Amino acid sequence: MNVTRTKVGILGGGQLGKMFALAAHNWDVETWALDASRTFPTGPVCSHFVEGNFKDYNDVYAFGKQVDVLTIEIEHVNTEALLRLEAEGVKVHPAPAALNLIKDKGLQKQFYQKHGLPTSDFQLFDSGDAIRVALESGQLSYPFVQKSRTAGYDGKGVAVIKSAQDLPLLLPDASVVEDLVDIEKEIAVVVARNENGEVKAFPAVEMEFNPVANLVEFLVCPSDIDKATERAAEQLALDTVSAFGVCGLLAVELFLTKDNRLIINEVAPRPHNSGHHTIDSCYTSQFEQHLRGILNLPLGSTRMKTASVMVNLLGEPNHSGPVQYDGFEECVAMEGVKVHLYGKAETKPYRKMGHVTVLAENAESAKAKARIVQNKLKVVSTKI
Ligand code: ADP
Repeated sequence: MNVTRTKVGILGGGQLGKMFALAAHNWDVETWALDASRTFPTGPVCSHFVEGNFKDYNDVYAFGKQVDVLTIEIEHVNTEALLRLEAEGVKVHPAPAALNLIKDKGLQKQFYQKHGLPTSDFQLFDSGDAIRVALESGQLSYPFVQKSRTAGYDGKGVAVIKSAQDLPLLLPDASVVEDLVDIEKEIAVVVARNENGEVKAFPAVEMEFNPVANLVEFLVCPSDIDKATERAAEQLALDTVSAFGVCGLLAVELFLTKDNRLIINEVAPRPHNSGHHTIDSCYTSQFEQHLRGILNLPLGSTRMKTASVMVNLLGEPNHSGPVQYDGFEECVAMEGVKVHLYGKAETKPYRKMGHVTVLAENAESAKAKARIVQNKLKVVSTKI
């Protein structure tokens, strides 16, 4: 195979597309990206940017006809067009049928159940009102977690209902209602698969939450779990990617419960926030691994070179407008501090504008340095 003559298309032009295109560029692979505007992060770094809508059948079909291999950086794309492209001989990874399962949290849960993969118990409901009826008739009891089947992203389509007092939080959407899990730790394992069926797992990453904001603050690798649990988490993620049979990356989000069980929360068949550290800390980055997976190349070594902590660079609250990075020079002066800016022109409160990976000899030292970076590096607007 001549990789340099392969045209790889990406649906989505955000930061994941940017980092993927940069990795592909190392091998001189031609990258095409489809999204609303070439001013988006992928615009300046891909070979060809096509302005259009990745949710639109005609835009996706016309775009896909121009490439050899088509992939995604966001799940919410038009899968009807992908199914037709696949039938007409375009390689589409992840496979559109699997993407349809994953896009719908209800179908995703049913898939785990059918394949004997551990996940929390659940029921499906057509609406928020149907949940109220089930509560009144005793078919459902508190506490539970409600997730919109199709509208979720970054925790937005999730409602935690602990008692009747929380009922105003119920989402009106068709949703999955699952048991509220007693979580000890949240872990992510990014795995990859190629068409030959080869699979590999990156080391497990632990998501550490800020107790006040209740947002993921640090993504720590290696995770602070015992070796046996870590191996079990990696094996579960490998079993999951083999069950879906998708090529490229699959990020598997897991809960380690207080009673020491590993259960699958959800998956994403694409590069993932919890894999960003691999660019700086592993032999192969998740983006290069995705490329290897979708081009059916041998998967790269996932070995960790050094411990790391990844911090998302979010727009400061109360800042909207043209972006400026305060404290940048001080931070890049520090050993092991790797700053990645996505190139978004405008900041908004909590918008993901970049990330920083801090490398150190162990996770504790990396965390200490990451705290310094957090305090120094601020994403602000030039006009307030
Ligand atoms: P999203 O796809 O929007 O990121 P998730 O399914 O990952 O949504 O849920 C967001 C967060 O909500 C999780 O990281 C976890 O902290 C919490 N959560 C999700 N499901 C459960 C559950 N069943 N029990 C307890 N907490 C949960």
